[in-house]
Amino acid sequence: MSYRMKLFQDELARCIQRLHKEGWLPNENMGEASVRDTETGQVTISIKPGTIGVTDPAAYFGSDMPIVDADGNYITHHAPAHDNLPLHLAIYKARPDVTAIAHVYPLWTTLFTNKKQGLPFVLAEQLEASCNVTCVQSEPADTDEYRQEVVDALADQICVMMYNGGIICAGNNVDNVINYIAWMESVAEKIALAELIGEVKTITADPIDLVTEGYEYTVDTNYKTYQDYDQILFKEEVARGTRMLNEKGYSPSGESGDVAVRDLKTGLCYISGSPAWCFQKNLRDARGWERFICDAQDNIFTPYSEPTCEWIMHTAIFRKRPDVGAIVQTHGRWASVFAILEMDVPLDLIGEGLTGVIPCTPYQSAGGSGLAEVIADGLIDSDYVLMGHHGAVIVGKTMDEAMAKTAWMEKACEKAFYAILCAGGAKSSLAKARETYSK
Ligand SMILES: [Zn+2]
Repeated sequence: MSYRMKLFQDELARCIQRLHKEGWLPNENMGEASVRDTETGQVTISIKPGTIGVTDPAAYFGSDMPIVDADGNYITHHAPAHDNLPLHLAIYKARPDVTAIAHVYPLWTTLFTNKKQGLPFVLAEQLEASCNVTCVQSEPADTDEYRQEVVDALADQICVMMYNGGIICAGNNVDNVINYIAWMESVAEKIALAELIGEVKTITADPIDLVTEGYEYTVDTNYKTYQDYDQILFKEEVARGTRMLNEKGYSPSGESGDVAVRDLKTGLCYISGSPAWCFQKNLRDARGWERFICDAQDNIFTPYSEPTCEWIMHTAIFRKRPDVGAIVQTHGRWASVFAILEMDVPLDLIGEGLTGVIPCTPYQSAGGSGLAEVIADGLIDSDYVLMGHHGAVIVGKTMDEAMAKTAWMEKACEKAFYAILCAGGAKSSLAKARETYSK
């Protein structure tokens, strides 16, 4: 047995333990995962549940994991492979780009698979993962016909939903695959919640590619710039804010949303990097050294560091709000529910003696200058604005002030959501909710 075989076994055990820890695999019967070594074509897959006497996925060891060749012939001889091995092999055969697969039965996507529905294209963040997740219509079966149906429905996407069969995410490493699960669940949750209080409309049937306007990657090895102590502190501050997005639940998928801080003395703007840059795929892992630095006039000073696609939105806000030192762009659960419905959040429903609304702006393509202008204009007279079919932007003097406002805003959206739901939901109306909960 070669060293690389052991490494793939350990990697799969880490995948299964992470799936379990993050709630996607409550016990060993509720899904399975596999990884493929492209050099040898060998596939390492979950053991068949109940066959080695270990039932807790947290207790799986790499050495428990069976290895087979591309046709399913055993290379190891100690434990049987999971019954879904032929389905994994069929996907690997059809998709040379795929080297990791996870199959789970999560909560929110099930609300769609129960109806034999894929995920409608409703939120801008779907552009970053997949706008076209479809649902296999047949009952799961151990047949080549069924497996072909799954492969066809997955097509060139990263996720496929299966009627009575959970979801499969496929990608180029186990961490991306687990992030895709979080992504699909988060999107499904927001859509399902929005459907409870309103009518959900899709954005477009023809998804466009994500753009990053005004930025071109340049190889520049001179990393030793912007190393003054205050510059290092600002880079660390924007990295801390980026990590907080995921840690506080404002970026449930861990890959979307961004923050910016501005040094009001020098005018330098420090902005979240693209999560795809440098293989960093979760905002929780954001580091100071890779932050993007520009000024409010869009002059780029760190061309080696790819910014979030929304960077021109941050600088547009800084231009229109000279007082603002920090910006937080979120994809949190409750703000997104109102954003999906393009609905202003009625503040008279939240029990704090307030009137007026948190305004929601109409949908604009992510990364474009149209979005930048609409959001910057929306923030001239307000520190909060919802982005239609996207998320929310909150500004403050400092990162902590903007984060504190974000916490209030998410709670305000949650309270308004439940006031409308408890007053009758989508079948009711805002007027009925106000009658019940306002004043
Ligand atoms: Zn965004």
